[in-house]
Amino acid sequence: MAVAAEGRATSIDGLPPLRDVIERHGLQAKKSLGQNFLLDLNLTGKIARAAGDLSQTTVIEVGPGPGGLTRALLMNGAQRVVAVERDERCLAALAEVSDHYPGRLEVVAGDALQTDFAAIAGAGQPVRIVANLPYNIGTELLVRWLTTPQWPPFYLSMTLMFQREVAERIVAKPGTDSYGRLGVLAGWRTDARIAFDVPPQAFTPPPKVTSSVVHLTPRQSPLPANVKTLGRVTEAAFGQRRKMLRQSLKSLGGESLLAAAGIDPTRRAETLSVEEFVRLANAI
Ligand code: SAM
Repeated sequence: MAVAAEGRATSIDGLPPLRDVIERHGLQAKKSLGQNFLLDLNLTGKIARAAGDLSQTTVIEVGPGPGGLTRALLMNGAQRVVAVERDERCLAALAEVSDHYPGRLEVVAGDALQTDFAAIAGAGQPVRIVANLPYNIGTELLVRWLTTPQWPPFYLSMTLMFQREVAERIVAKPGTDSYGRLGVLAGWRTDARIAFDVPPQAFTPPPKVTSSVVHLTPRQSPLPANVKTLGRVTEAAFGQRRKMLRQSLKSLGGESLLAAAGIDPTRRAETLSVEEFVRLANAI
């Protein structure tokens, strides 16, 4: 930490330390908004670097909060960051970041669940999504981004923080306890991997569980399938994951559907590969 000429402490990016920002703007974390802030710019820098080359891209961030990850994205060369924040208390703090990086940060005040991300990204530059997501809406946002009708989607990659247990479900392979609807969806349309774990004490306030940063890259040509039908199949199959498929898929055609897809009706959902789920969806 350095001290600016006027005697104020500054961080490596020349802006005040995040603890000062939080205190000055009264940004005490609200549980209802899933606020667990990252105050260490080395850690937020690591997340920004895990997202890949940001120099020619628009980065979409959900929930910038006091701006720790936002600052790291800008410091790591993001040409433009569009950040959607629901908590109006954070807007003045984010305006200071915007002033420090003229023309590079746009803050959208609003609810990410009501946001058309493709529209706010605009046409032209490639888009990367990078966020320390509020846990209460993280899975819902991910599923929306994985099920966009247009594929390849509007983004080049997603680098997202989740609770470790959710991250494990995203990258899960067949035959494991974590394998389910999320793993099939993510495995079908993307290459997903856990980049690194983040311990609870890295956050203010610390959550109860370990978190993980997941990096997802869209497959250019996933196996052809209707996304809604695939959703119906995985919902039915994993809805009764301990049952044989002839039972759990009864409402979708049961034994005859399984025969059409060439799948043994005595198997259980968690043993099926993504390719086999796609075959089932295409047989409906
Ligand atoms: N990016 C900051 C960081 O890493 O320190 C804050 C991350 S905190 C886990 C989640 C952020 O998402 C908070 O700033 C919270 O206000 C914001 N948030 C919560 N619900 C939201 C929603 N529906 N739309 C947009 N932002 C939301």
